[in-house]
Amino acid sequence: MKAFVLEGPGVFKLKNVPVPIPKPSEILLRVKAAGICGSDIPRIMITGAYHHPLIPGHEFAGEVVSIGEGVREEIVGMRAAIYPLIPCNSCRWCKEGLYNLCDNYDYMGSRRDGAFAEYVCVPASNLVRIPENIPFEHAALIEPIAVAFHGLRNAGLKNGENVVIFGAGPIGLFLCQIAKLLGANSILIIDIINQKLEVARKYGWAETINASEVDVIKEIHLKFPHGADLVIDTSGSSNALHQAVAITRKHGRILLIGNPHDSIKILQKSFETILRHELQLIGTWNSIMLNEWGQIIQWMASGEINVEPIITHRISLDELPRIIQLMHERKIVHEKVLVVM
Ligand SMILES: [Zn+2]
Ligand SMILES: [Zn+2]
Repeated sequence: MKAFVLEGPGVFKLKNVPVPIPKPSEILLRVKAAGICGSDIPRIMITGAYHHPLIPGHEFAGEVVSIGEGVREEIVGMRAAIYPLIPCNSCRWCKEGLYNLCDNYDYMGSRRDGAFAEYVCVPASNLVRIPENIPFEHAALIEPIAVAFHGLRNAGLKNGENVVIFGAGPIGLFLCQIAKLLGANSILIIDIINQKLEVARKYGWAETINASEVDVIKEIHLKFPHGADLVIDTSGSSNALHQAVAITRKHGRILLIGNPHDSIKILQKSFETILRHELQLIGTWNSIMLNEWGQIIQWMASGEINVEPIITHRISLDELPRIIQLMHERKIVHEKVLVVM
């Protein structure tokens, strides 16, 4: 089969490799669509994966084509999205149902082979059935949508609250949509690229601010004199954190959902504000299949979450190496880039 193989940091190629054989309790999935996650770019270009060679890709959906020992025959032919995290099921956190916090997890696309290939082996327990009216290309995005949903659950978003989001990438745009579904009163998204903000405006998901054109802190205080109830950073940057602290209301929350690509510096003034305003900084990590994926599928099937405008590029596996390079060099403006097979 054809596969995108990462052989070391920055070293990758399209290769012909044997189709994997499902082990007991696994299935073989024919990949139909796989999204490129923001985290894939540094993983492929800079840091590498946990071991090499490895096939990246953790946002995906496809069709079950064969099964390993101990898996029910009826599963063959199932259309499914895949929860990429494989929990140990025996640590303290797994026993509490917090599988995303497992001490000893495996992960498709970073610790074991993922979906940038024609086929991938998946534990049967990680399959989530998708209804006929959700196309594979949309189902591949259930993972990042669930990450956004999990973040909002962690942040305890309440009805009527005001939300400000830094970063209009796919996670930011999904956060807008889900915050609205969860009853947010006012949603504002900030970025420096107008093209990205336009999507949010066009579909009425949020009001927008271009941080390269106006003073963000001033603008937010004009809109929310007491500050925002919940501020979310998807960018993982010192500057966004500094601004987030300045625009959060007293006793408000800051949700950190973006991976930092460098050390984050907190100014003394910001640190003092966190103390004086009794701000809460909340982390979030992955999603929980059992609690969250069903809700996302329901929202997608009913059209309450609109995925299509967030897919800006559909590419083939053959084009993947070139596109990864372009994304790394920031030579294309994109939201979700999907590998379609
Ligand atoms: Zn991801
Ligand atoms: Zn565990």
